[in-house]
Formats: sequence, C-alpha cells, structure tokens
Amino acid sequence: MPELPEVETIRRELEPLVLGRTLGEAWAFPHTKFLPALDAVGGRVTVVGRRGKYLLLGLHDDRELVVHLGMTGSLSVRSVEVVGRAEDPHLRAWWEIGGDEALVFRDTRRFGRLAVALGGVYSGTLAVQGPDALDPTITADDFWKALKSSRRAIKTQLLSQRPLAGVGNIYADEALWIARIDPRARRMTRAQAALLLDALREVLSASVDNGGTTLRDYRTVAGESGRNQERIACYGRYGEPCLRCATILRRTVLDGRTTTWCPSCQRR
Ligand SMILES: [Zn+2]
Repeated sequence: MPELPEVETIRRELEPLVLGRTLGEAWAFPHTKFLPALDAVGGRVTVVGRRGKYLLLGLHDDRELVVHLGMTGSLSVRSVEVVGRAEDPHLRAWWEIGGDEALVFRDTRRFGRLAVALGGVYSGTLAVQGPDALDPTITADDFWKALKSSRRAIKTQLLSQRPLAGVGNIYADEALWIARIDPRARRMTRAQAALLLDALREVLSASVDNGGTTLRDYRTVAGESGRNQERIACYGRYGEPCLRCATILRRTVLDGRTTTWCPSCQRR
C-alpha cells in the first residue's frame, strides 16, 4: 500500500501537470467509492497537497478532491483520445484537464476511493489522523504525549495513523528497527519516543528522495518504479540475518499485519 513517501512522490510529479488546470468533463466507475469524481467537475486546481497517505487537490471554490490510492491505485496524465478509446477494466475515474489531456485514476483491486470535501471538513481516517509524519513542527515531546494516551502495541499505534499520519507497515518496521524498539512494546520512554520520531523522519525522507518503495504495484505518475526497495533493512526480511547484529530476524503478526523485528536489537 502506498505510504507517505509514495504519495508524496506522486504529489510532486502531479503538481506541475495539474496545477491551474480545470477538471472538465469526467467519467467515474459506477460505485460509491469512485462516483464522487463527478462532484469535482468545474473545479480549478489551486493546490496539490497531501496529508499522510491522502492526496488533496485543492480547488478554487474551497472544495478539495481527496484521493486515497488504497493498495493498487495510480494517477497519470494521458491523452483524452487514448483514455476514451482504451477498454481498460481497471479505469476508475478520469477528468479532462484541457489541452487534450486527462487526469486518470486506475485501481485494479478497488481499495482506493475518492471524495470531495468542502472547506477542509473530512470524514473517515483523514478526519481523525494525527499531524503529517514529516511535519517539522512536531516535537519529540508532542509525539511522546500522543503515544502515552494509548496502551496498544507501538506498531499498532503507528499504523492507526493517530499519533502521526502517513506511516504504514514498511516504514513502521524500518523505523522501529533503527530506533531498536520492540514493535510489541506498550510503553515508550520520552527518550525512545525521540529516537523513534527521528527514525521515522529518516526512513520517510530517504524514501521520498528515492521516489518511494515499489514492492509490487506502486508506480509514479510517469509509470516508473520507486528505488527505495533497495534500502529496506528490516521489513519483510524475516529469516534473514539482522544487518546490525546478524541475529536471524523474526516475524510475528500484529493486528493482522506481518511484522519483522530483531529479537536481539529490539528488546522490550
Ligand atoms: Zn539485530
């Protein structure tokens, strides 16, 4: 699933392609998750923003087109003629954006969704998630206080998006490994919270610099794979030696999500 770095990569590529353009005639796959595409028609894109894993296209009239890519969603800009002619079974929505071009949303597995929000009033996860994980104004103390309000495992808390928005399974495992924190730990000291915040920023920023992590489906707007998968140190490497201490990494399942950690480096 695209996490913060993948959505940020898409945001950066999309910005010069759609900024100032007006969403003209549109088509949507007939499902409640995609039909809101039609509500954005007539809006001129004034901001290409992001919060956590959500892409937010601000429109001139105080509305926002909210895009969640789910597991396999992708955005691209293509010729209207090509889109209209293609019998693409994975097409979920498109909008004409002028100059014979269309903004196209494809999603094979259909876990993605679209919404139009008015004046920053959101619903679902977007409404309750914490500040963006790369928001530079968040201090270690803010983060520690946010974590203290829950007694759930630290990995579960990160995936909930409540302390910080944008962290999913890959970057949670990576950051917990860097900070040497057991993903099942339920209490963080102030010092651990500070280490974890630094680790999160480190892995997320490095991945943004590398255009995101492509394990299977994620592609950039230009249709390319990210390059960050070559830098993964812990996520999914269970059964292989820890890159720091050579202990064999273990796997457990936390809230239905496979979690990899080092039993030597990441002690409770
Ligand atoms: Zn280790």
